[in-house]
Amino acid sequence: MFAEIITVGDELLTGNTVDSNSAFIAKRLTERGYWVRRITTVGDDVKEIKAVIREALGRKPEVLVISGGLGPTHDDVTMLAVAEALERRLVLCEGCLERIKEFYRLLHEKGLIDDPELNEARKKMAYLPEGAEPLKNSEGAAPGAYIVHDGVKIFVLPGMPREMKAMLENEVLPRLGEKKFVQLKFLAEITDESKLAPLLREAIKRFKVRIHSSPKGFGRYIGVIIFAESEGEAEKATKFLNENGVSLQRWKL
Ligand code: ATP
Ligand code: MG
Repeated sequence: MFAEIITVGDELLTGNTVDSNSAFIAKRLTERGYWVRRITTVGDDVKEIKAVIREALGRKPEVLVISGGLGPTHDDVTMLAVAEALERRLVLCEGCLERIKEFYRLLHEKGLIDDPELNEARKKMAYLPEGAEPLKNSEGAAPGAYIVHDGVKIFVLPGMPREMKAMLENEVLPRLGEKKFVQLKFLAEITDESKLAPLLREAIKRFKVRIHSSPKGFGRYIGVIIFAESEGEAEKATKFLNENGVSLQRWKL
């Protein structure tokens, strides 16, 4: 099961904002058993966003999560780019419009904004690609979208981390079903990562596991993470490494 992530925003490309969204999404998808094979960041440009969506779809991931650029401002063009990439029209989601109205009415009631009325910019957020299921935004105005296209589950989420996280937890993950997946984290004591490499390669060949290793400190300790669909398979790989002279201690990364 493989997944891709696209984050959208000029501020991510200038370095003014660190792309923490993709790390958060990747972590959650990995926990669910998805292998995130690619993360792409692109600016607020319809053509560029459309191009990276098409490229990602061409690799046929099971899941594609897109985040950023759903707001009311002129540079928020992600929904339009998604619609164009999928060759669908943007259509008004009446329910979304009602929710957006209510959202601004409440902000006005609390004295946070001067004008509760819907204007073109606010109304823009209620347009989703034809056939999309709206995703509820419990923390903001812009709805997200869920579209199944050529067997790919596409989720379009806001960029504001608070909004993105809530939508991911409440609207995205429940649509991906339950998936038992284990990650065993270890510290391996070894003098040299290169000595570990052939053993890890052999373990990957023998068992249904993925293994990541990264040096910690001055080479004596190496962090090893074993990913597997079952505890049993991960343990077989662990046993194999232990028997071949790699001393593994459970470790909380
Ligand atoms: P909104 O409805 O809040 O306008 P939006 O979908 O238009 O949402 P953006 O305009 O892309 O969101 O970003 C809103 C805020 O979230 C900005 O402050 C931006 O820096 C931050 N943000 C956007 N994308 C990311 C990201 N990938 N990682 C961290 N922060 C992000
Ligand atoms: Mg924006």
